[in-house]
Amino acid sequence: MYQSSTYCRLEEFRDILESILRRHSSQPVVLVTVPDVARWAVEVNMGVYGNPIATAILATDEMPAHIAVRSEISKDEAESVLGLLEWCGYSEEVRLFRSNPVRFAMHLVLHELAHIENEWGQAREHDCDKWAFERLPGAI
Ligand SMILES: [Zn+2]
Repeated sequence: MYQSSTYCRLEEFRDILESILRRHSSQPVVLVTVPDVARWAVEVNMGVYGNPIATAILATDEMPAHIAVRSEISKDEAESVLGLLEWCGYSEEVRLFRSNPVRFAMHLVLHELAHIENEWGQAREHDCDKWAFERLPGAI
């Protein structure tokens, strides 16, 4: 069976991702890595469209806000996101993402944080990307 190669494992970046979330969030946000985001969403009684590599849920009375990301992202999955970002004009950043998956991971969690902080729905994907790029630290 064809198995596409791994682009990144999110747990390896947990410390830096949690620190970037603390810096840019106004509330506690729990970061979870899961094998399957859609299945996780069902478990917490939330619907997601398709099977995304990441999703966000807003805080409720019972639970703080959560960001769930797929624990392992393949090169093919990363490329499908990168191609879209490139198409939206972020080709310089995408070039850095290809050689530096931690930057991709930081942008991914910042994008999800944008949904939480601004209460932007799925129709605001471009705004979330822009918000995330504005908060991405300089090249590392
Ligand atoms: Zn989004």
